[in-house]
Amino acid sequence: MRRGEISRESVLKTLAEHDELGRDAFLAKYGFGEARSYVLVHEGQEYDSKAVAGVAHKWEQGRALAPGEFSGGRDHAAAWLKRAGFHVKAIQNPDWARDEIILACQLVMENGWKGLEAQDGRVEELSALLQLLPIHAEAERNEKFRNPNGVARKTFDIATRHPEYQGKPTNGGALDVAVLREFLARPEEMTETARLIRQGIATGELQPLAPTEDEEFDDYSAPEGRLLMRRHRARERNKGLRKKKIASVLRRGGRLACEACGFDFEKVYGERGAGYIECHHVLPLHVAGEGRTKLSDLALICANCHRMIHRQAPWPTPGELKASIQEKHAADVRAAAAIARPRWAADEQMPNP
Ligand SMILES: [Zn+2]
Ligand SMILES: [Zn+2]
Repeated sequence: MRRGEISRESVLKTLAEHDELGRDAFLAKYGFGEARSYVLVHEGQEYDSKAVAGVAHKWEQGRALAPGEFSGGRDHAAAWLKRAGFHVKAIQNPDWARDEIILACQLVMENGWKGLEAQDGRVEELSALLQLLPIHAEAERNEKFRNPNGVARKTFDIATRHPEYQGKPTNGGALDVAVLREFLARPEEMTETARLIRQGIATGELQPLAPTEDEEFDDYSAPEGRLLMRRHRARERNKGLRKKKIASVLRRGGRLACEACGFDFEKVYGERGAGYIECHHVLPLHVAGEGRTKLSDLALICANCHRMIHRQAPWPTPGELKASIQEKHAADVRAAAAIARPRWAADEQMPNP
Protein backbone atom coordinates (compact mmCIF):
# COMPACT_ATOMS: atom_id res chain seq x y z
CA MET A 1 0.00 0.00 0.00
CA ARG A 2 1.38 3.40 -0.93
CA ARG A 3 0.80 5.85 1.84
CA GLY A 4 -0.42 9.27 0.90
CA GLU A 5 -1.75 8.46 -2.55
CA ILE A 6 -5.26 9.73 -2.00
CA SER A 7 -7.37 11.59 -4.51
CA ARG A 8 -9.70 14.48 -3.98
CA GLU A 9 -12.58 12.19 -4.75
CA SER A 10 -11.79 9.67 -2.02
CA VAL A 11 -11.37 12.48 0.50
CA LEU A 12 -14.81 13.81 -0.47
CA LYS A 13 -16.31 10.34 -0.02
CA THR A 14 -14.67 10.19 3.40
CA LEU A 15 -16.11 13.56 4.38
CA ALA A 16 -19.56 12.33 3.34
CA GLU A 17 -19.18 9.26 5.53
CA HIS A 18 -18.01 11.48 8.39
CA ASP A 19 -21.08 13.71 8.06
CA GLU A 20 -23.40 10.72 7.92
CA LEU A 21 -21.96 8.99 10.99
CA GLY A 22 -21.24 12.11 13.00
CA ARG A 23 -17.81 13.01 14.29
CA ASP A 24 -17.62 10.78 17.38
CA ALA A 25 -18.88 7.66 15.65
CA PHE A 26 -16.58 8.27 12.69
CA LEU A 27 -13.51 8.61 14.91
CA ALA A 28 -14.50 5.59 16.99
CA LYS A 29 -15.13 3.40 13.94
CA TYR A 30 -11.59 3.91 12.64
CA GLY A 31 -9.82 4.29 15.97
CA PHE A 32 -8.68 7.89 15.59
CA GLY A 33 -8.57 10.67 18.17
CA GLU A 34 -9.33 14.34 17.71
CA ALA A 35 -6.84 16.27 15.61
CA ARG A 36 -4.31 18.14 17.67
CA SER A 37 -2.33 20.11 15.13
CA TYR A 38 -4.28 20.54 11.89
CA VAL A 39 -7.86 20.58 10.73
CA LEU A 40 -9.19 20.25 7.22
CA VAL A 41 -11.60 23.03 6.32
CA HIS A 42 -14.25 22.20 3.75
CA GLU A 43 -17.38 24.18 2.97
CA GLY A 44 -17.09 26.04 6.25
CA GLN A 45 -16.80 22.89 8.34
CA GLU A 46 -13.74 21.63 10.17
CA TYR A 47 -12.64 18.00 10.14
CA ASP A 48 -9.97 16.03 12.01
CA SER A 49 -7.31 16.00 9.34
CA LYS A 50 -5.44 12.88 10.35
CA ALA A 51 -8.54 10.70 10.59
CA VAL A 52 -9.81 11.90 7.22
CA ALA A 53 -6.47 11.28 5.53
CA GLY A 54 -6.19 7.80 7.02
CA VAL A 55 -9.72 6.74 6.13
CA ALA A 56 -9.49 8.12 2.58
CA HIS A 57 -7.01 5.33 1.84
CA LYS A 58 -9.72 2.70 2.00
CA TRP A 59 -11.45 3.89 -1.18
CA GLU A 60 -8.36 3.43 -3.30
CA GLN A 61 -6.24 0.95 -1.48
CA GLY A 62 -8.68 -1.38 0.19
CA ARG A 63 -8.15 -0.43 3.80
CA ALA A 64 -7.89 2.64 5.98
CA LEU A 65 -4.52 3.48 7.53
CA ALA A 66 -4.30 2.96 11.27
CA PRO A 67 -3.31 5.98 13.40
CA GLY A 68 0.11 4.47 14.17
CA GLU A 69 1.05 4.15 10.51
CA PHE A 70 1.53 7.84 9.80
CA SER A 71 1.69 11.29 11.39
CA GLY A 72 -0.94 13.99 11.29
CA GLY A 73 1.57 16.69 10.53
CA ARG A 74 3.33 18.31 7.66
CA ASP A 75 5.14 15.14 6.63
CA HIS A 76 2.03 13.05 6.20
CA ALA A 77 -1.69 13.81 6.62
CA ALA A 78 -1.57 17.59 6.26
CA ALA A 79 0.69 17.34 3.22
CA TRP A 80 -1.41 14.66 1.51
CA LEU A 81 -4.65 16.57 1.98
CA LYS A 82 -3.09 19.72 0.63
CA ARG A 83 -1.82 17.83 -2.37
CA ALA A 84 -5.37 16.63 -2.99
CA GLY A 85 -6.40 20.28 -3.13
CA PHE A 86 -7.85 20.80 0.34
CA HIS A 87 -7.39 23.64 2.76
CA VAL A 88 -5.61 22.56 5.94
CA LYS A 89 -5.03 24.92 8.80
CA ALA A 90 -3.04 24.83 12.00
CA ILE A 91 -5.18 24.59 15.13
CA GLN A 92 -2.77 26.43 17.36
CA ASN A 93 -0.43 29.19 16.43
CA PRO A 94 3.25 28.53 17.16
CA ASP A 95 4.81 29.75 20.39
CA TRP A 96 6.37 33.16 20.26
CA ALA A 97 10.03 33.10 19.21
CA ARG A 98 12.58 35.24 21.00
CA ASP A 99 12.67 37.81 18.17
CA GLU A 100 8.94 38.36 18.46
CA ILE A 101 9.11 38.77 22.22
CA ILE A 102 12.00 41.22 21.84
CA LEU A 103 9.88 43.44 19.58
CA ALA A 104 6.91 43.26 21.96
CA CYS A 105 9.07 43.89 25.00
CA GLN A 106 10.63 46.94 23.40
CA LEU A 107 7.16 48.37 22.87
CA VAL A 108 6.18 47.67 26.49
CA MET A 109 9.35 49.37 27.72
CA GLU A 110 8.67 52.37 25.50
CA ASN A 111 5.19 52.48 27.06
CA GLY A 112 6.57 52.81 30.59
CA TRP A 113 6.30 49.05 31.24
CA LYS A 114 2.53 49.07 30.80
CA GLY A 115 0.57 46.74 28.52
CA LEU A 116 -1.09 48.14 25.38
CA GLU A 117 -4.61 47.68 24.06
CA ALA A 118 -5.40 45.99 20.76
CA GLN A 119 -6.80 49.27 19.36
CA ASP A 120 -3.50 51.06 19.93
CA GLY A 121 -1.89 52.02 16.62
CA ARG A 122 1.48 50.75 17.82
CA VAL A 123 -0.01 47.31 18.49
CA GLU A 124 -1.55 47.23 15.03
CA GLU A 125 1.78 48.17 13.51
CA LEU A 126 3.63 45.48 15.48
CA SER A 127 1.02 42.89 14.53
CA ALA A 128 1.61 43.65 10.84
CA LEU A 129 5.37 43.46 11.34
CA LEU A 130 5.22 40.11 13.16
CA GLN A 131 3.26 38.65 10.27
CA LEU A 132 6.17 39.57 7.99
CA LEU A 133 8.90 37.90 10.04
CA PRO A 134 10.31 34.84 8.26
CA ILE A 135 10.24 32.67 11.37
CA HIS A 136 7.03 30.63 11.34
CA ALA A 137 6.01 28.92 8.11
CA GLU A 138 2.70 29.89 6.55
CA ALA A 139 1.36 26.35 7.13
CA GLU A 140 1.95 26.65 10.87
CA ARG A 141 -0.21 29.75 11.22
CA ASN A 142 -3.94 30.14 11.38
CA GLU A 143 -5.99 33.25 10.67
CA LYS A 144 -5.44 34.64 14.16
CA PHE A 145 -1.67 34.53 13.87
CA ARG A 146 -0.22 37.50 15.82
CA ASN A 147 -3.39 39.54 15.37
CA PRO A 148 -3.73 42.77 17.41
CA ASN A 149 -5.60 40.96 20.20
CA GLY A 150 -2.85 38.39 20.57
CA VAL A 151 -0.13 41.03 20.45
CA ALA A 152 -1.93 43.15 23.06
CA ARG A 153 -2.24 40.11 25.32
CA LYS A 154 1.47 39.48 24.97
CA THR A 155 2.27 43.05 26.03
CA PHE A 156 0.28 42.46 29.25
CA ASP A 157 1.98 39.10 29.80
CA ILE A 158 5.30 40.93 29.68
CA ALA A 159 4.23 44.01 31.66
CA THR A 160 2.78 41.94 34.48
CA ARG A 161 6.09 40.09 34.84
CA HIS A 162 7.95 43.32 35.56
CA PRO A 163 9.47 43.15 39.07
CA GLU A 164 7.65 46.34 40.09
CA TYR A 165 4.25 45.17 38.93
CA GLN A 166 1.89 44.73 41.88
CA GLY A 167 -0.43 41.83 41.37
CA LYS A 168 -0.61 38.52 39.60
CA PRO A 169 1.06 38.03 36.23
CA THR A 170 -1.52 37.40 33.49
CA ASN A 171 0.25 34.59 31.71
CA GLY A 172 3.30 34.06 29.60
CA GLY A 173 6.21 31.72 29.71
CA ALA A 174 9.83 31.39 30.68
CA LEU A 175 11.00 33.01 27.46
CA ASP A 176 8.97 36.17 28.18
CA VAL A 177 10.67 36.44 31.54
CA ALA A 178 14.11 35.78 30.06
CA VAL A 179 13.69 38.54 27.47
CA LEU A 180 12.27 40.96 30.05
CA ARG A 181 15.34 40.37 32.23
CA GLU A 182 17.61 41.05 29.27
CA PHE A 183 15.84 44.37 28.70
CA LEU A 184 16.15 45.36 32.36
CA ALA A 185 19.83 44.40 32.47
CA ARG A 186 20.90 45.86 29.11
CA PRO A 187 18.22 48.29 27.89
CA GLU A 188 20.37 50.05 25.27
CA GLU A 189 21.64 46.84 23.70
CA MET A 190 18.21 45.24 23.56
CA THR A 191 16.65 48.40 22.11
CA GLU A 192 19.34 48.35 19.46
CA THR A 193 18.62 44.66 18.82
CA ALA A 194 14.92 45.44 18.26
CA ARG A 195 15.91 48.26 15.91
CA LEU A 196 18.20 45.95 13.91
CA ILE A 197 15.50 43.31 13.53
CA ARG A 198 13.04 45.96 12.32
CA GLN A 199 15.59 47.43 9.97
CA GLY A 200 16.62 44.03 8.60
CA ILE A 201 12.99 43.31 7.75
CA ALA A 202 12.41 46.75 6.25
CA THR A 203 15.43 46.44 3.95
CA GLY A 204 14.62 42.82 3.08
CA GLU A 205 18.01 41.64 4.29
CA LEU A 206 16.78 39.14 6.86
CA GLN A 207 13.99 37.45 4.88
CA PRO A 208 16.10 35.24 2.60
CA LEU A 209 18.49 33.91 5.26
CA ALA A 210 18.17 30.17 5.85
CA PRO A 211 17.25 29.00 9.34
CA THR A 212 20.16 27.64 11.34
CA GLU A 213 20.01 24.06 12.54
CA ASP A 214 18.71 23.87 16.13
CA GLU A 215 16.72 27.07 15.83
CA GLU A 216 14.71 26.56 19.00
CA PHE A 217 17.99 26.19 20.81
CA ASP A 218 18.80 29.71 19.61
CA ASP A 219 15.88 31.05 21.63
CA TYR A 220 18.12 30.42 24.61
CA SER A 221 21.66 30.74 23.28
CA ALA A 222 21.25 33.95 21.30
CA PRO A 223 19.78 36.81 23.34
CA GLU A 224 19.36 38.77 20.11
CA GLY A 225 16.96 36.27 18.57
CA ARG A 226 16.90 33.89 15.63
CA LEU A 227 17.04 36.35 12.76
CA LEU A 228 20.21 38.18 13.78
CA MET A 229 21.67 34.77 14.60
CA ARG A 230 20.95 33.65 11.05
CA ARG A 231 22.82 36.68 9.81
CA HIS A 232 25.74 35.89 12.10
CA ARG A 233 25.88 32.34 10.73
CA ALA A 234 25.56 33.49 7.15
CA ARG A 235 28.46 35.88 7.61
CA GLU A 236 30.77 33.34 9.13
CA ARG A 237 29.84 30.69 6.58
CA ASN A 238 30.39 33.03 3.69
CA LYS A 239 32.91 31.04 1.67
CA GLY A 240 34.55 34.03 0.04
CA LEU A 241 35.12 35.76 3.37
CA ARG A 242 36.54 32.64 4.96
CA LYS A 243 38.91 32.11 2.07
CA LYS A 244 40.14 35.68 2.33
CA LYS A 245 40.59 35.39 6.08
CA ILE A 246 42.60 32.16 5.75
CA ALA A 247 44.72 33.62 2.95
CA SER A 248 45.51 36.71 5.00
CA VAL A 249 46.61 34.61 7.99
CA LEU A 250 48.82 32.41 5.83
CA ARG A 251 50.31 35.43 4.05
CA ARG A 252 51.44 36.80 7.40
CA GLY A 253 53.09 33.47 8.14
CA GLY A 254 50.47 32.42 10.67
CA ARG A 255 49.16 28.92 11.29
CA LEU A 256 45.57 27.85 10.82
CA ALA A 257 45.13 27.09 14.50
CA CYS A 258 42.16 27.69 16.75
CA GLU A 259 42.54 31.02 18.55
CA ALA A 260 40.99 29.57 21.69
CA CYS A 261 42.53 26.08 22.08
CA GLY A 262 45.28 25.95 19.45
CA PHE A 263 43.78 22.98 17.60
CA ASP A 264 45.28 22.60 14.16
CA PHE A 265 43.23 20.45 11.77
CA GLU A 266 46.18 19.59 9.53
CA LYS A 267 48.34 18.53 12.46
CA VAL A 268 45.75 16.05 13.65
CA TYR A 269 44.08 14.93 10.43
CA GLY A 270 46.95 15.37 8.01
CA GLU A 271 46.09 16.07 4.38
CA ARG A 272 42.34 15.80 5.06
CA GLY A 273 42.50 18.65 7.55
CA ALA A 274 44.83 20.88 5.54
CA GLY A 275 43.47 24.39 4.99
CA TYR A 276 40.43 23.80 7.20
CA ILE A 277 39.28 26.03 10.03
CA GLU A 278 35.98 27.69 10.94
CA CYS A 279 35.46 31.41 11.37
CA HIS A 280 33.58 33.05 14.22
CA HIS A 281 32.28 36.57 13.82
CA VAL A 282 33.45 38.30 16.98
CA LEU A 283 31.28 41.43 17.03
CA PRO A 284 28.22 41.09 19.27
CA LEU A 285 25.06 40.80 17.17
CA HIS A 286 23.66 44.12 18.34
CA VAL A 287 26.85 45.84 17.16
CA ALA A 288 27.32 43.95 13.92
CA GLY A 289 24.46 45.74 12.27
CA GLU A 290 25.19 47.67 9.17
CA GLY A 291 28.20 47.55 6.99
CA ARG A 292 30.38 44.86 5.59
CA THR A 293 32.21 42.25 7.57
CA LYS A 294 35.88 43.11 8.00
CA LEU A 295 38.46 40.34 8.10
CA SER A 296 39.43 41.54 11.57
CA ASP A 297 35.84 40.75 12.70
CA LEU A 298 36.52 37.07 12.04
CA ALA A 299 38.43 34.80 14.42
CA LEU A 300 39.84 31.39 13.45
CA ILE A 301 38.16 28.84 15.62
CA CYS A 302 37.92 25.05 15.66
CA ALA A 303 34.53 23.35 15.38
CA ASN A 304 34.45 22.34 19.05
CA CYS A 305 35.29 25.78 20.40
CA HIS A 306 32.81 27.34 17.99
CA ARG A 307 30.05 25.13 19.39
CA MET A 308 31.06 25.99 22.95
CA ILE A 309 30.97 29.73 22.24
CA HIS A 310 27.48 29.53 20.76
CA ARG A 311 26.17 27.07 23.31
CA GLN A 312 24.95 29.57 25.85
CA ALA A 313 24.61 33.32 26.20
CA PRO A 314 26.56 35.43 26.90
CA TRP A 315 29.05 34.23 24.29
CA PRO A 316 32.67 34.37 25.37
CA THR A 317 35.16 35.98 23.00
CA PRO A 318 37.84 33.58 21.67
CA GLY A 319 40.24 35.23 24.16
CA GLU A 320 37.86 34.64 27.07
CA LEU A 321 37.32 31.04 26.03
CA LYS A 322 41.09 30.60 25.81
CA ALA A 323 41.51 31.98 29.34
CA SER A 324 38.86 29.63 30.68
CA ILE A 325 40.48 26.62 28.98
CA GLN A 326 43.84 27.57 30.51
CA GLU A 327 42.28 28.08 33.92
CA LYS A 328 40.60 24.69 33.75
CA HIS A 329 43.86 23.11 32.65
CA ALA A 330 45.82 24.72 35.50
CA ALA A 331 43.24 23.50 38.02
CA ASP A 332 43.49 19.96 36.59
CA VAL A 333 47.29 20.06 36.85
CA ARG A 334 47.08 21.20 40.49
CA ALA A 335 44.59 18.44 41.30
CA ALA A 336 46.73 15.79 39.61
CA ALA A 337 49.84 17.04 41.44
CA ALA A 338 48.02 16.85 44.77
CA ILE A 339 47.14 13.19 44.14
CA ALA A 340 50.62 12.24 42.90
CA ARG A 341 52.50 14.07 45.70
CA PRO A 342 55.02 11.74 47.34
CA ARG A 343 53.97 10.85 50.82
CA TRP A 344 56.02 12.10 53.75
CA ALA A 345 58.75 9.89 55.08
CA ALA A 346 56.90 9.82 58.40
CA ASP A 347 53.85 8.34 56.63
CA GLU A 348 56.02 5.62 55.17
CA GLN A 349 57.09 4.56 58.64
CA MET A 350 53.60 4.33 59.99
CA PRO A 351 52.63 0.73 60.53
CA ASN A 352 49.84 -0.43 58.34
CA PRO A 353 46.57 -0.24 60.24
ZN1 LIG B 1 39.40 25.28 19.62
ZN1 LIG C 1 30.01 32.07 15.49
